[in-house]
Amino acid sequence: MKAFEDLMAHQRETQALAQVAGRLSWDQETMMPRGAANQRGEEMAAMEAVLHARRVDPRVGDWLASVDEAALDEVGRAQLRHIRRSFDRTSKVPARLAAELARVTSVSQGVWAEARANEDFEAFLPTFEQVISLKREEASALADGGDPYDALLDDYEPEATAAMLDEMFGALRPRLVDLRDKILGADHQPISVDGTFPEDGQLRISRELAQAFGYDFARGRIDKAVHPFSSGSGHDVRITTRTAAQDPFNCFYSTIHEVGHAAYEQGIDPAYLLTPLGQGVSMGVHESQSRIYENQLGRSRAFTGFLYGRMRDVFGDFGVPDQDAFYGTVNRVHQGYIRTEADEVQYNLHILLRFDLEREIIAGSIAPKDLPEAWNARFESDFGFKVDKPSNGCLQDVHWPVGLFGYFATYTLGNVYAGCLYEALRKAVPSLDEGLAKGDTSAATGWLRDNLQRHGGLMTPREVVAQACGRDPDEGPLLDYLEAKFSEIYRL
Ligand code: ZN
Repeated sequence: MKAFEDLMAHQRETQALAQVAGRLSWDQETMMPRGAANQRGEEMAAMEAVLHARRVDPRVGDWLASVDEAALDEVGRAQLRHIRRSFDRTSKVPARLAAELARVTSVSQGVWAEARANEDFEAFLPTFEQVISLKREEASALADGGDPYDALLDDYEPEATAAMLDEMFGALRPRLVDLRDKILGADHQPISVDGTFPEDGQLRISRELAQAFGYDFARGRIDKAVHPFSSGSGHDVRITTRTAAQDPFNCFYSTIHEVGHAAYEQGIDPAYLLTPLGQGVSMGVHESQSRIYENQLGRSRAFTGFLYGRMRDVFGDFGVPDQDAFYGTVNRVHQGYIRTEADEVQYNLHILLRFDLEREIIAGSIAPKDLPEAWNARFESDFGFKVDKPSNGCLQDVHWPVGLFGYFATYTLGNVYAGCLYEALRKAVPSLDEGLAKGDTSAATGWLRDNLQRHGGLMTPREVVAQACGRDPDEGPLLDYLEAKFSEIYRL
């Protein structure tokens, strides 16, 4: 037991330092004075070096070798599984490659941002080629003879494979395309809002929404940032939001989305604090929480009825005549290039495109220089219109420029998990809509906390979703939900 105790003590200090590093990033996006950027880069690199050294400390290997696994309980074995997995992965990547990847991806973010602003893919290409070459090298080091793409995917979604996702996504595509085509061709089209919504009113409602969805302000805070995000775990989980004068839903629904991520972290059993079990188990399960809060609950007929009333109180008459029309307005399906602005029906089609292209990039069958052409051709065949400029095409997302390959798929996997969880939730809480109509989500968020969130990393991602749903997760419930909801809104 001595080896296990030493290992956990070392781990706890590493987790604490990782939380500090995360708070530096939060500060950089919210509070940091502009002139501090270079100094902050050096501070964060120093933290990263300390963390890396702790993660590959040879003593971790010795402790892992001498722990008597049979003497541990279920929680102890789960802790060990996480520590072993992380140690094995970190140790497979040579220090030179890890350092080079950190350096190149951090430079790449700036080069990409400028290239995107100038609509100039060629300016980004040399850096992008370096990123891809290093990622392919990392993938084959991690794969150790196995599939390189799966090795990258495993970082965000342990135990998922491209083959499994390919089958799931293949089943999603035809029904999503069919639904999207019917919606865009429908006679009945919901109205969009047209007007200006003062920032103080938006921020007031967004705080109320965070509260309504169970965000604990005693252990969190909301600030403004360019991109909404959630950061931290345990007793300090912070979120950010943003406002756009013409589009209040951007603020409201990105707040609810981030509250979903944050509530997951806040809802984990406090006994797991600062241990490997004390955080969300995978990106896919994380996204299932943000999506079910945002879409299945936040964009439901019942809850939008409540939101409509609050918006009328704060903004007066904003041109949407009643709750029914408003339900259509917040769920409007519209054509667009940008993934982050996509509606519930088309969002996954944006992900499927990226999933297929990035597997080819990692396999080497699409060279970086050929990406714009491959992207544009695929976009036109999936969406039916041409990409007009790189910022609306392959330069729109930050993921690939900073080396996040294998990440996109977890967004759709999260939507699929959210579909399964929502089906189970409706069965478990038949009176769900009565609460939602009054802005009270406690029955839903309480069910999610008790059945999924509190477990943290105790089970594998699929296991924790399966035990909450009472079935093995698949794409069926998400598709049924989308078809029923949008057939009603569009009178199909
Ligand atoms: Zn998210």
